[in-house]
Amino acid sequence: MVKFPEANARMFRNVFVCRRCKAKIRTPNTKVIAGKVKCRRCNSKVLRPKRKK
Ligand SMILES: [Zn+2]
Repeated sequence: MVKFPEANARMFRNVFVCRRCKAKIRTPNTKVIAGKVKCRRCNSKVLRPKRKK
């Protein structure tokens, strides 16, 4: 399967994953850096970017 860099960016750039419950959260990464995003399932603020498997 061919990888399209721009498609990857679109899919993963603003997507984060909760470290505790693995919920996917789509939000601008500026808000994550500012600490304004909480997981809506477990209220954890520990998020990681979706990329890196
Ligand atoms: Zn969570």
